[in-house]
Amino acid sequence: MKIKAALSNGAEAPFELAEVELDEPRADEVLVKLSAAGVCHTDLTMKALWPQTMSPIVLGHEGAGVVEAVGPDVTGVRRGDRVLMSYRSCGACQECAAGHRTYCRDFRTLNALGSRPDGSMTMRRGTSPVYGSFFGQSSFASHALAYESNLVVVGDDVDLSVAAPLGCGVQTGAGAVLNVLSSHQRRGARRVRRRRRRPVGRHGGQGRQGEHDHRGRPRRG
Ligand SMILES: [Zn+2]
Ligand SMILES: [Zn+2]
Repeated sequence: MKIKAALSNGAEAPFELAEVELDEPRADEVLVKLSAAGVCHTDLTMKALWPQTMSPIVLGHEGAGVVEAVGPDVTGVRRGDRVLMSYRSCGACQECAAGHRTYCRDFRTLNALGSRPDGSMTMRRGTSPVYGSFFGQSSFASHALAYESNLVVVGDDVDLSVAAPLGCGVQTGAGAVLNVLSSHQRRGARRVRRRRRRPVGRHGGQGRQGEHDHRGRPRRG
């Protein structure tokens, strides 16, 4: 089918809006009509670093839209579902099984080859290949081919332009705060509690508890 996409032709060239041909969904693929897409710094970094020999490419990895068609093996989403797209994961490796899908052993193969894992392209312009399958979506386009592992169905009341950046930027930031920063804070708080208990023991026998502050200095007043 014919779609519109923003092609990246290298670091210096501006994005080019063009009509390209997108494959019909394969058995495990989901065709999503985009309503919104976030722009993450990874898109811009990849635009700057992506090899010229593998250009043009359609970037974009924070898409949200409505499912238009699904392949026969897809069971988790249906036509008409409103979805946001994130990164792909295999669901079967050790990291995925432990719940750490971001560290999927096949992450690069599934998200950053510029093609499907089998090397086939999802898009072309005339007879020339257009690289894509970026994070299993390439969402800088009117339509994208995605997969069950990188789709989240959202409710009818969710604004899709708000849902889109949840796929990468927001969840990455939230993960940094909830999993890293808060655990540092918990460790810091434990250290402070240990320090506060110490003076009583360190100055044991020199005075009653309460006569020194938490650093062991004599209390004034
Ligand atoms: Zn995996
Ligand atoms: Zn991102």
